[in-house]
Amino acid sequence: MLSISPAVRLSFGLMVLTLSILLFASALGLTPNTDKNQLQARQALSQTLAFQALVGYSRNDRVLVEQVLGNAVTSNTDLLSAAVRRAEGDFFYRTKAHAALWPNDTSSESTPRFVTVPLLLGGATIGTLELAFEPLGQSDISYFGLPRQWLLFIFLVVAAFISYRLFIGRALRYLDPSSVVPARVRNALNVLAEGVFILDRREHIVLVNTILSDRLGVDEKRLLGRKAATLGWRADDSNVEHLPWSQALETGEKMVGVRLTYAAPDGRICVFRVNAVPIFDNKGHSQGVIASFDDVSELEEKNSQLEIMLTELASVQAAIEEKNRSLEHMAAHDPLTGCFNRRAMREKLDEVFEVASVKRSPLSCIMLDIDHFKRINDTYGHTMGDEVIKLVADVLHEQVRGSDFVARFGGEEFCIILPDTDIEHAEQIAQRCRQAIEQSEHKGVKVTSSFGLASLQIGMSSAGELVNQADEALYYSKQHGRNQANRWQSSMANAVTAGGGT
Ligand code: GH3
Ligand code: MG
Ligand code: MG
Repeated sequence: MLSISPAVRLSFGLMVLTLSILLFASALGLTPNTDKNQLQARQALSQTLAFQALVGYSRNDRVLVEQVLGNAVTSNTDLLSAAVRRAEGDFFYRTKAHAALWPNDTSSESTPRFVTVPLLLGGATIGTLELAFEPLGQSDISYFGLPRQWLLFIFLVVAAFISYRLFIGRALRYLDPSSVVPARVRNALNVLAEGVFILDRREHIVLVNTILSDRLGVDEKRLLGRKAATLGWRADDSNVEHLPWSQALETGEKMVGVRLTYAAPDGRICVFRVNAVPIFDNKGHSQGVIASFDDVSELEEKNSQLEIMLTELASVQAAIEEKNRSLEHMAAHDPLTGCFNRRAMREKLDEVFEVASVKRSPLSCIMLDIDHFKRINDTYGHTMGDEVIKLVADVLHEQVRGSDFVARFGGEEFCIILPDTDIEHAEQIAQRCRQAIEQSEHKGVKVTSSFGLASLQIGMSSAGELVNQADEALYYSKQHGRNQANRWQSSMANAVTAGGGT
């Protein structure tokens, strides 16, 4: 169907209105053309009657003349009287009112009101037709005794003002779509927590609620009619390239949760989550779009603060865990050698002793003590003594498996726990350690160590007993020349009692 633009419709409406006013004025007899028309009508009537009257008068047929003129006066309200005057001056026929109406002036000049038509026969005037009409233009006009031009002027002023006012009022409502939105709808939009605007097809704002105009920091009146893209959307926001309402209009599909940042004139930065839904006409074409704005600035600010706090918390937690690990390590390890300390060794030993007892798996213990260590201290000083202790610990760590535990038992005395290791294998390890210590040196200083071994046996009641046996075997090694490794034997117990510890 042909679509008519609003401008054409308005022009057409005004034209019809103007014509209606003029036609109405004309119908009221206010227009100047009325006189002319009336005059022309009188001329035509006069000529017709003159012809018919001539026929009757020339035949001296009074009845015919009476019929013609009498009928004309009766049927024509504008015509008041009629007569045929002989050339001699007397009347051949006249209607009743004629004597009173016709002026006494005998001049044969026609006026618009008193018309005389000569009746000619064979070139000679044989008489005159006299017709008396109503005064011109005043036949039915008698408003307040004012001249017709004034009446026309007043009529046009009043009628044009009233009709144009009504018409323009309706047209303006049509041209201003926001005004056709009922007040209750506006009020409903204004109580929404979300900002809302409605755009026309060209993305100009036709309606905006107070929440949004407040958030944008722009007066509602200045927003109306403005293209939505010209507001302060931040250029660094990637979504500015594809504004959600443009997308909705283009694709005919709603856009949901598009994040847009906005710089308000007062310097505020707002973050909105925008939904945009196209508005369709009854042919399914997008005619505009309604967009809602959820201000998430505060939420985003809180979220980023929360993220910072969480990051800080995580790093504090990591630091605490690290500290705990280091405390745990410190609590279980000897700072000089990095070996387990005596307390940790006891715990480990109880643990593996329990497992080995239940599983009936082998478990061995090696005790060792550096030979004549006092001499090292005495000869090279205490610091060198410490370095030598550290050297021995390193050698031991190199020689044992990852599953074994090396502990510093006392000053320069060490204990090695060997889970899943029988006494033979433990002796091999002890000999390997002994040789390695013997062969190593620190700043030219060499030491040897004495070793004692024991292993878990049926009937052994505690881990302490295992350690004691290894210690007794160590004592035996010290007693029998040092730099050697010996297994515990029951006979060694007496020797320890007799000779004292290392
Ligand atoms: P033996 O062959 O009989 O073991 O002779 P020894 O001199 O090594 O005698 P003993 O084991 O009884 O003496 C250990 C000495 O080690 C006593 C102490 O002065 C010294 N000592 C103990 N702990 C440390 C330590 O942490 N650093 C240093 N530098 N010396 C220590
Ligand atoms: Mg010693
Ligand atoms: Mg000692």
